[in-house]
Amino acid sequence: MSTLADITSSFRTKPSEKARAAADREVILADPGFGKHFTDHMISIDWTTERGWHDAEVRAYGPLMLDPAASVLHYAQEIFEGLKAYRHADGSIWTFRPQANAERMQRSARRLALPELPTELFVESIRQLVNADAAWVPSAPETSLYLRPFTIANESFLGVRSAQRAAYYVIASPAGPYFAKGVAPVSIWLSTEYARAAKGGTGAAKCGGNYAASLLPQKEAYDNGCAQVLFLDPLEGKYLEELGGMNVFLVKKDGTLVTPELSGSILEGVTRASIIQLSRDRGITVEERKVTAQEWRDGMASGDVVEAFACGTAAVVTPIAALKGPGFVAGDENAPAGKLTMSLRQELTDIQYGRRADPHGWMTRL
Ligand code: PMP
Repeated sequence: MSTLADITSSFRTKPSEKARAAADREVILADPGFGKHFTDHMISIDWTTERGWHDAEVRAYGPLMLDPAASVLHYAQEIFEGLKAYRHADGSIWTFRPQANAERMQRSARRLALPELPTELFVESIRQLVNADAAWVPSAPETSLYLRPFTIANESFLGVRSAQRAAYYVIASPAGPYFAKGVAPVSIWLSTEYARAAKGGTGAAKCGGNYAASLLPQKEAYDNGCAQVLFLDPLEGKYLEELGGMNVFLVKKDGTLVTPELSGSILEGVTRASIIQLSRDRGITVEERKVTAQEWRDGMASGDVVEAFACGTAAVVTPIAALKGPGFVAGDENAPAGKLTMSLRQELTDIQYGRRADPHGWMTRL
């Protein structure tokens, strides 16, 4: 088996023969949307029980060859990550806390019985792809290159057991604002019928199956004019957990921030952890605790909850104006963005885009 240093230093590069012309790329970068366009290259690293991780490559972006019996297609043995590369004013390209994504992917791998990719190799894979496709990192305000690492089980075997063959890939997609309306307050739909996770389940892992389970309730949210669905805890159906693809915070009248504690069924967001840190740096009290949907609704009615926001890599920090559910609307759908929400968003994006000092050493130059 090759050592970590061997594999980390042995990326083979096979340049794409179909790389798009600069003019075509510029058209895409002028209005990238989210997750619609992909760069010219991708990373692949293979894994088997005998050889461990091997054959690290930067190669042309393109379809995967998968045997129809590949276990990922039948038993959803798959995990993924999401992080971004940011272009700073001097042209340099940086990413935010990639080690935290690498470690979360290792935790997801353990839960899904997939091989763990070492942190050093994860970070190197990001660096290799971004270096190959540096021209795809946009420079307009609030744009970035979204990076999507993922691991699939690709052994051709229909027995139900953890696969003995897997592959890790990274693809990249230039990104504008996540929500079509830009940074405007959104309404959130409280799902009372569906849960995204179970006690002892995979809620804390970033695996495709969790998202498959969230699509029907997410559709219900759209049908009710909401941008995201809010899930409650799977046991009592009382406590806030998280949104389909973001964590959630409330701001109390006394300035305290409240966010659901890590329950074992919530995804531990890198943005969530960063917001908690930046808030504590400001002297703000942050409570990580159980919080009921009723507390939020009552708080909005009484004025005790003055702001709410969602946070995640894709949406950064997005103000929440109203909470809707079957037969109720709490808050005002047309309320403006909260002050603390927007100042935390500003502080975080200033660090990410190199407009402000990075007090915790979160940025890694690619
Ligand atoms: N919860 C869920 C379900 C998510 O998909 C995400 C996005 N990865 C988050 C929270 C936020 O995590 P992060 O801040 O690391 O992007």
